[in-house]
Amino acid sequence: MLIGRQRHEQGSGGAREHIYAATGGATCSVPLAGAAEIEAAVEAAHQAGALWRHQAGAERARLLHALGEALLAHGEELALVQTMESAVPSMFARTFLTSAAQHFFYNAGWADKLDGELLPVGPGALDYTRAEPYGVLASIVPWNGGLAALAQVLAPMLATGNTVVLKPSELAPFSAQRLVELALEAGLPAGVVNVVTGTAEAGRLLVRHPGVAKIHFTGSRATARDVLAGAAEHIVPVCLELGGKSALLVCADADLMAAAQQALAAIVGLCGQGCALPTRVLVARDVQARFLVLLKGLLRRVQVGDPLAPSTQVGPLISADACARVLGVIERAQQRGEATLLSGGQRLTGELAEGFFIAPTLFSDVPEDSELAREELFGPVLSVLGFDDESEALRLANDSPYGLAAYVFSADLRRAQRLAAALEVGSVWINGQAALAPAMPFGGCKQSGYGRLGGRAGLREFTRPKNVWLALDDSPPRSS
Ligand code: NAD
Repeated sequence: MLIGRQRHEQGSGGAREHIYAATGGATCSVPLAGAAEIEAAVEAAHQAGALWRHQAGAERARLLHALGEALLAHGEELALVQTMESAVPSMFARTFLTSAAQHFFYNAGWADKLDGELLPVGPGALDYTRAEPYGVLASIVPWNGGLAALAQVLAPMLATGNTVVLKPSELAPFSAQRLVELALEAGLPAGVVNVVTGTAEAGRLLVRHPGVAKIHFTGSRATARDVLAGAAEHIVPVCLELGGKSALLVCADADLMAAAQQALAAIVGLCGQGCALPTRVLVARDVQARFLVLLKGLLRRVQVGDPLAPSTQVGPLISADACARVLGVIERAQQRGEATLLSGGQRLTGELAEGFFIAPTLFSDVPEDSELAREELFGPVLSVLGFDDESEALRLANDSPYGLAAYVFSADLRRAQRLAAALEVGSVWINGQAALAPAMPFGGCKQSGYGRLGGRAGLREFTRPKNVWLALDDSPPRSS
């Protein structure tokens, strides 16, 4: 843990072995925060805030830029750190890193441009707003997004003058630790970002600490309910980035190879363990057979294996529990005979047997009310459903408790935009997907959460407008 400038090698919450998912072996023991460390971290952030919130925006910009540069300068090392913590394949760990640096550069650009509004309140008075930071923010994050996800949250928090207590997942605590070390080296004042490693218990303590002014939580729906209950104790605002079961709509006129590659992207890289990945594939019945041939062909060529090997595209699941959970869903679907298994479906053996690997799995003829179609599986499993027309496609896509993202493939851009407007989600990608650029607001609808990260919306998320009214002369002002 890193609190202020102080490194804590032990925690009052005990310790936990970190497991490398590719081999099932322990890497090292990680200290767990208890009440003492949470208290110290909130206090350090509080003290640092007195300086940081009044720092000139240009100075915050300079420091965030320096942090972005530091990430790039430590590229090799940070790629390895990310792979060792979550077993994400090296080639994707590198893209996380570039994306992380871009989040810092983008938000640095806003740090000296956080203006307010001048409001017309009638003669005799001046009224304006100031965009003020909240103070100490708690950021509780999962294990799957590496440095990109950390930077997506931290960069706008820091650019807007807040200070942070960051609690990474116990399953992947190393990138956060290293990022905060680099922040100190880049010149950020001690205490501006603190990292406390810990389990659910540390998260619970942090959420309920009276010194926290706002909570940002990324994780599962079940945990979000407890976070909201904790936040209610002190009436603290919360921003939630939760799960998804994103639909990929493949219309009959779509470029089928491009759409199949998009479906494949739900599995490669994060092994299906990403919140916005399109694991629910809705295909026009007229082209479904051709689409499935293309997708099966792509799946056959995917390189699954050692995440440290440069050519590996798919690594293991994060834990033995996750592996057992996903295999359970696959097994139940087969026992019920409710879908057709076209590819994968089993745990990998041989050299990979000790790791938590599942073969990339493809089901077709998936019923809309099945576990495969409705639950966020967080594993390398694609479920294909058919539709007859646009209205059925839309009904199926929106028939989900989640609303994080959707993907549309169609040659008819009017149709694609009609669908984009009607989809109940926070983000829509049409005919492809670029990486999540820092300028894009990202977040969910429905049970995928609320609040936004990225772009101006991300900056607004971590500032609040204070209204200032000033009498300009002695006569009582009249309202306009
Ligand atoms: P999780 O909810 O189990 O854990 C997330 C974090 O919360 C971890 O740091 C964990 O230690 C902490 N935590 C656990 N219980 C807590 C409690 N009671 N109070 C406070 N903190 C607690 O989620 P996970 O399994 O680590 O991550 C996977 C989930 O995250 C998926 O549902 C995924 O879709 C979601 N996710 C969403 C986004 C997004 O941006 N929308 C991004 C990545 C992941």
